[in-house]
Amino acid sequence: MRGFVLGACLAMTVGGSAANWCDMRVLIIEDNDRLAGLVSHGLAQHGFSGDGVGNLDEAEVALASVTYDAIILDLGLPDGDGLEWLRRDRPGHPLPPVLILTARDGMGDRVAGLDGGADDYLVKPVEIEELAARLRALLRRPGARSLPIIRAGKLAFDVAARTARSGDNAIELTRREADLLELLIRRAGAVVRRSTIEEALYRFDEPVTPNAVEAIVSRLRHKLSDADHPDRLVTVRGMGYLLRDYGD
Ligand code: CA
Repeated sequence: MRGFVLGACLAMTVGGSAANWCDMRVLIIEDNDRLAGLVSHGLAQHGFSGDGVGNLDEAEVALASVTYDAIILDLGLPDGDGLEWLRRDRPGHPLPPVLILTARDGMGDRVAGLDGGADDYLVKPVEIEELAARLRALLRRPGARSLPIIRAGKLAFDVAARTARSGDNAIELTRREADLLELLIRRAGAVVRRSTIEEALYRFDEPVTPNAVEAIVSRLRHKLSDADHPDRLVTVRGMGYLLRDYGD
C-alpha cells in the first residue's frame, strides 16, 4: 500500500485507542500514481483520510486489514478490470460504498458500473469538490451496502431494524439516537467530529440548535451506561466524540 495519509489527517492516541483526526477513511484504487496522489491530497483538504493502492491485489490486502468507509475505484487496472472485481462474490464481507472514477464515459459504461454494484460513477477529470460531495452523500445513506449487524465490543446495532443490544439487554433508541449510534459504531475507536454528526443527523435544510448534538449524545450516553458500559461513549474536548471499542 502506498499509504497516502496527508494534510490534516494526523493520527493520535486517545485513552489508549488509536484515533484518527479524519472522520472518514477512503481506499483509492488507482494505478496512475500522480492522479492517486492528487485525489488523496485533495480529499485530505475535505477531511478524508485516503489510502492509495495501485492494483486489485493490493486493494484486497488493504481491505483485509483496514475498515474503510468508502472505495474510489478506477476500472482499468494492471491486474484486472475494476468492474469484474466489484462483481465478485464476497460472502460475509461486503464492500463499503464504491464510487467508480474512470475515463470510460459511455452511457453503457455508466449503466454497467451502477448495475455492477457501484454506488456512484464519475468520469475523469473530476473536480475534487464534487468528488468530496459525492462521497459525503454516499456516506450519509444509512446502511448503504453494509453488514446487517455492526458491532463495537458487545454492543450490536441492527442497521435495517434500527435497534441496538448490549449482550441480552435491548436498548430503546429514538430515530436520531439510532442514527448517532450507527455512525459512532462505524467509526468505533476513532474520534467523530461534531460537524460530521450534525451533517449525518440533520438534513441540509433543517435548523440545528447549538446544543442539539450534545443533548442527543447525553441521552445516548445514559442509555449505554445503563445497558452496556459506563464509559463507552466519551467526549474528546474540542474535537468530537469517540465510541470505545472494548474487546468485550
Ligand atoms: Ca487506470
